[in-house]
Amino acid sequence: MTNRLPRMTCVIGPPAAGKTTLTTYLHNQFHSPVLRPRDAIAFALQQDPGLGSLFARDNRGWVLDPALGLALRITLARLDEPVILEGLPWDAFQLADLHQHTRGELTILRLRAPTAILHQRRSQRMFCATCYPKPATGEATCQSCGGPLTTRADDDHEAFHDRLDTHRSNAAAIQHLAADPRIPAIDLDTDQPASRVATEAFTAIGPSR
Ligand SMILES: [Zn+2]
Repeated sequence: MTNRLPRMTCVIGPPAAGKTTLTTYLHNQFHSPVLRPRDAIAFALQQDPGLGSLFARDNRGWVLDPALGLALRITLARLDEPVILEGLPWDAFQLADLHQHTRGELTILRLRAPTAILHQRRSQRMFCATCYPKPATGEATCQSCGGPLTTRADDDHEAFHDRLDTHRSNAAAIQHLAADPRIPAIDLDTDQPASRVATEAFTAIGPSR
């Protein structure tokens, strides 16, 4: 069986849905790089430091959607191996860009979980500044590096609500475009053990190729 990833696998979903856990799993299985919004921005800036002002962050720590789209295009132009995207596409325009870029060889994994579960995970999750974005394990100190664990600033209640709302409105537009039968979109319920979510994802994108 020759399992391989499609040209592009996009893992999207609301904050605390388990995106990093799933992309880490896919990375370990398929050895394809994981690209997150901050990676694309860093790469674009490395290619052209003169773009710096386009990537100014607002008080929520976000860059403008068109700037993120630009960073994505700059990054993808240099990547010609299968890639796993985490938290991307962020909006329907980026999805259209990705569809063009991959000539349709992209699969979307949409993570879903009840809002109450997302809030519960938000209030419990900790992160390690050294190991991030790798999910942190441990109570007060990181089991990987021994550093202190803290909560994420954008996980505070109000910021989290804001991120959830923004995700919902963008997700509706993405869903509309992904309804195009040429774009396979697979829904994964993440209100179950992470290993089951991973198995479902693997079954959905792996063996059939
Ligand atoms: Zn650590």
